[in-house]
Amino acid sequence: MEMATSEQLRQDALAILQALRQAGFLAYFAGGCVRDQLLGRVPKDYDVATSARPEDVARLFPRTVATGKAFGVMQVVTAGRTCEVATFRRDSAQGDGRRPDAVAFSGPEEDARRRDFTVNGLFLEPLTGEVLDFVGGRQDLELKIIRTIGAPRQRFGEDYLRLLRAVRFAATLEFELEAATRTALQELAPRINNISAERIQQELTRLLTTAPHAGQGLRLLQTSGLLAVLLPEVAALAGQAQPPQFHPEGDVFEHTVLMLDGLTQPSSLTLAWAVLLHDIGKPPTAALTREPDGSDRIRFHYHDEAGARLAEGILRRLKMPADEITAITYCIKNHMRFKEVPQMRRATLRHLVGAPTFPVEMELHRLDCLSSHGHLGNYEFLLKFREELQNEPVLPKPWITGHDLLARGLPAGPELGRWHRRAYEAQLEGRCASREQLLAWLDQALRERLRDPAAPTAPSPPDHETH
Ligand code: ATP
Ligand code: MG
Repeated sequence: MEMATSEQLRQDALAILQALRQAGFLAYFAGGCVRDQLLGRVPKDYDVATSARPEDVARLFPRTVATGKAFGVMQVVTAGRTCEVATFRRDSAQGDGRRPDAVAFSGPEEDARRRDFTVNGLFLEPLTGEVLDFVGGRQDLELKIIRTIGAPRQRFGEDYLRLLRAVRFAATLEFELEAATRTALQELAPRINNISAERIQQELTRLLTTAPHAGQGLRLLQTSGLLAVLLPEVAALAGQAQPPQFHPEGDVFEHTVLMLDGLTQPSSLTLAWAVLLHDIGKPPTAALTREPDGSDRIRFHYHDEAGARLAEGILRRLKMPADEITAITYCIKNHMRFKEVPQMRRATLRHLVGAPTFPVEMELHRLDCLSSHGHLGNYEFLLKFREELQNEPVLPKPWITGHDLLARGLPAGPELGRWHRRAYEAQLEGRCASREQLLAWLDQALRERLRDPAAPTAPSPPDHETH
């Protein structure tokens, strides 16, 4: 299905709102879409709040899905697009700090008061532009502050996910945390562990991929105390010194902040998490070494591999989808190879450029350079190399197949695999101009092997390398 535009979603929500009113119910735009509209931002979706009960909603619209009926939330489906229609309600939490366990329907004011932050507690009458503000949300929009509706300790205590949401909204809207909200947040930060890993991961991902300056979001996670609880491996980057000649910007935390601030938003989940975690292998591998000139220098041997292993643990803990874990850890493990680009053979370069993660790795590398020494030589070299290959597949079909090798009497097995790889590398290197040339080399090499079975099993093809 095609992505619905914000305008389409607005039109859907408008039509739903008018139908509800014609049936005699109250109905408003509510929550995030009102906040975004008042800020002059494009809402990503439109939610409707109404006095109609879920069964009324089901009766009024031809297609509805009762996803959160117990909580009074219905999805109304229009031309394949959905709009959330929620009955005004007040929540009664049991106090385990997770989710409201029961719901009672109510009027608009109580519905506003159960919401998390004042800027999220507004209703809009879209036809007249009238705003219903029971919680002082409009003023806080103007002051650019995130403030809980009601006493912060109590509101965080009802649902500890709000701790992380406060930071996420502050970062994405570039608002400040109101003083009492911030104090309660710092005090209660360790309680974030009551929240499920998936929900934590989703909020962190929203922050990292959409905040205009995600690095400032990371700072806020740090100063609120959430980072030490959620990602101690990232918190450990603060204070980790690195050689100033390569990293004039400062310690590893500062470097990571700069890179996150450099993300073009919205960024991909893969890139944002790869940036956040790319250097977490540094603190555990840091070692002081004596240089030939007698000076001391900090080195981080194999920090890429250590970092990839740590990242895998973190991402599993956060219940990240398996394909994302694979991609992110691959980018981290590979990130130092970009330094070796000028010495790479063409076949190696082709493998690098042909990897599905290549675009993400390139951007990771670009940000890494720009947030430290500033040299983009290898980045530009790779751009050019990729361009040269524009009209051919980077990793073309192998000219020589297992079938060719079997037909020449090689038994199936690891040796056949080695011959196959050598032939493919020769093709990628451009050492043979055609399948025929490659086959000629292969026949010759196989004859030599027959004559002398002790000869290397898969000799190098003719070498007229240019690179
Ligand atoms: P976004 O643009 O990121 O979707 P949003 O404000 O729409 O922001 P949602 O998570 O979609 O955020 O929630 C919609 C609304 O529901 C919020 O604006 C807020 O009023 C309310 N809400 C959501 N989560 C909570 C919560 N954990 N506690 C209280 N109210 C919440
Ligand atoms: Mg929303």
